[in-house]
Amino acid sequence: MTLANRLLLISDLHLTPERPDVFQAFGAFIRSQTNPDTALYILGDFFNLWIGDDGMDDFAREAAAILSAAAEQGMAIHIMHGNRDFLMGREFADACHATLIDDPCIVDTNGQSYLLMHGDTLCTRDKDYMAFRQMVRNPEWQQAFLDKPLLERQSFANQARAQSKTMSSNKPEDIMDVSPEAVSGILEQYDQMTLIHGHTHRPLVHDLDLKNGKGKRIVLGDWDVSGWYVEISAGKSSLNSFPIQA
Ligand code: MN
Repeated sequence: MTLANRLLLISDLHLTPERPDVFQAFGAFIRSQTNPDTALYILGDFFNLWIGDDGMDDFAREAAAILSAAAEQGMAIHIMHGNRDFLMGREFADACHATLIDDPCIVDTNGQSYLLMHGDTLCTRDKDYMAFRQMVRNPEWQQAFLDKPLLERQSFANQARAQSKTMSSNKPEDIMDVSPEAVSGILEQYDQMTLIHGHTHRPLVHDLDLKNGKGKRIVLGDWDVSGWYVEISAGKSSLNSFPIQA
């Protein structure tokens, strides 16, 4: 539930010190959109990698400062975990003056509701990833991981990333996308008609035929050569992009 009349949704910024252009675009975007009548939703993979709040560095603090400045001006900030930053915790969220939201989560505005997800759980045909996800989302695994020294966590993450890249390059394209059954299944389970997610880096608005009628799936893009956002205002949703200047 939100009291804001306008929603902005972004995902997959993959913020990293190696991409100052993306960081710059993010800061400019937030500053230009800050408004107490707007609520911001970050649908996962805000950072390229997050190995625990105790690993928060100056770069992460700068990102948090941009969000907390917007929050201080009355913009509500919500952050969902992605597959790269699922270890983001309360300490970081507090630094952003943001609320961590569940995946999936329903948001209502102007009498319409939307189902929000990161999107990785929709890629059910990628069995290796689903097994990996089940392991790393287990609270006991996470606690054991967070108890390890930062350097060890870093090297695990680097390995996992390299492995996932090799595996992805050997997988057929459709395995890396959402499965249509998972999409209709989750919308029906939550009794919703519109799904907004990121993760697949395939920005597009899809029309859906659901049991209860015509639905919609809006896919956000990753921030690379362009920045992407969904705007919902006065009952209308749109997928938008702008160039990122290198
Ligand atoms: Mn992702």
